[in-house]
Amino acid sequence: MTPHRVAVIGGGLAGLAAAATLHRLGIEACVFERDAEVGGVVQSEQRDGWLIDSGPCMAAEPDAAVRAMLDTAGLAECTLRAGPGANHRYIVHDGVPVPLPQTTAEFTVSPLLSLAGRLRLLKERFIPAQRDATDESVDSFARRRFGDEVADRMFDPLVASTCAGDPRQVLARYAFPQLVGHEQHGGSGLQGNLRDRMEARRQAKGKPTGAWSCLQGMHELPLRLASRVATIRTSAPVDAASARDGKVHVGVGGRTSEAFDAAIFAVPAPALGRIAFDLPEADRLMQVATMPQASIAAVSLGFRRDHIVHPLDAARLLVPSVERRSILSVVFPSSVFAGRAPDDHVLVTAFVGGARRPDLVDLPEADLIALVQLELGSLLGVQGPAVMQRVTVWRDALPQAVAGHGGRLAAADVVEATAGVVAFTGAWRDGLSVAEVLLGGVRAAERLAVRQGWPSLPTSG
Ligand SMILES: Cc1cc2nc3c(=O)[nH]c(=O)nc-3n(C[C@H](O)[C@H](O)[C@H](O)COP(=O)(O)OP(=O)(O)OC[C@H]3O[C@@H](n4cnc5c(N)ncnc54)[C@H](O)[C@@H]3O)c2cc1C
Repeated sequence: MTPHRVAVIGGGLAGLAAAATLHRLGIEACVFERDAEVGGVVQSEQRDGWLIDSGPCMAAEPDAAVRAMLDTAGLAECTLRAGPGANHRYIVHDGVPVPLPQTTAEFTVSPLLSLAGRLRLLKERFIPAQRDATDESVDSFARRRFGDEVADRMFDPLVASTCAGDPRQVLARYAFPQLVGHEQHGGSGLQGNLRDRMEARRQAKGKPTGAWSCLQGMHELPLRLASRVATIRTSAPVDAASARDGKVHVGVGGRTSEAFDAAIFAVPAPALGRIAFDLPEADRLMQVATMPQASIAAVSLGFRRDHIVHPLDAARLLVPSVERRSILSVVFPSSVFAGRAPDDHVLVTAFVGGARRPDLVDLPEADLIALVQLELGSLLGVQGPAVMQRVTVWRDALPQAVAGHGGRLAAADVVEATAGVVAFTGAWRDGLSVAEVLLGGVRAAERLAVRQGWPSLPTSG
């Protein structure tokens, strides 16, 4: 019997996870990727002993369903587990990197919060729940529950380092769903968080936890996934999709279209607005396409180890807005993974731009490097020149879950349910992190298979 054929539009992590899952279900996938290479924002470059990830450089351990899909794609062979530094973070406080406390005991002695700030934090458990907090921003949620200092010093830089967003715009229920969930169930965010961590530790017993990447950089992940997919068409921008006679017809570059049994759209939200859809309820996709996106520049610099005073014994440095710096956050890939920098050297990647300073991504490359080097000089004690420099500007790459987000997600749900032969996935829909995006791709493939009455159990390896 001829296998069912599904078009997957977009060869980023979401599309490739969906395609690899279809393969496990015995369904043939054909991925259409606009660019010359798969991976989307996942890009790695090797040169002169440096291994530079200009997009994501590490991922959290994913859900079991995703891990099974990754194992099938041979990821275990190239998975690189993070060293102990991956659990640590610094936050800039009055110009100085201060370790982010991990335990209550560390909190009580940390200079991050004043005595008044700590007492306010402890009052959190007595703050009554705000039952209808549907469109509450992260900033408002954090101030209401945890106090101003925690909002300014912790939530603000966390939002900057995950989605480069403005905490006064980004909605709490998408950025911190667990915390909001604890409040909705009448509980304390702090206590609920503690319980979550204990439960996660219990469930993770004997299983790998913590951050991971791939031996040759994050880009090995999309390459491995792509190796499980029957057909990958690169340089193939899809510009039309219509549902007729029980098939989905997919058009590329204005040329004749090809028919598939169904299609999964795994493109960024704005890209949906550039595809001519002929599907029931497709007008609603224009609402999705207007989802705001943030742009950031990733400035990777290599230094001689003895030219930096700071031990760099962490995964990341977070920078609150109140510190009035240009840098949003800094990652230290060579502190977390082997093979990222030549011997006696370190690699740091600083992110600038986002909602905080959108103008910065338009600066000439040399100015961005100079700006980052100047700020790192005072933050980390950099005493020598960068011996390696690499700048990547990611325009409109980070979807922002701001007011109206729920309506946009609901619009995509309606199109899926009405058309029956399409599914939507990607960071804009399923969450930004690598782990969430991969899970979203897996779920989109499974959803489509169930809707079509196709096999729901893995049939092939
Ligand atoms: C700079 C940066 C750093 C990050 N760091 C981390 C990190 O350290 N850890 C973490 O967990 N997450 C990180 N993230 C988030 C995570 O990497 C992304 O959310 C995720 O990779 C997005 O995957 P995606 O498939 O949804 O989208 P994309 O990667 O954007 O893929 C979409 C694909 O669709 C293609 N496409 C668009 N239009 C069309 C069309 N018409 N036809 C065909 N193809 C089309 C695009 O070319 C692209 O390849 C980072 C993100 C960025 C931008």
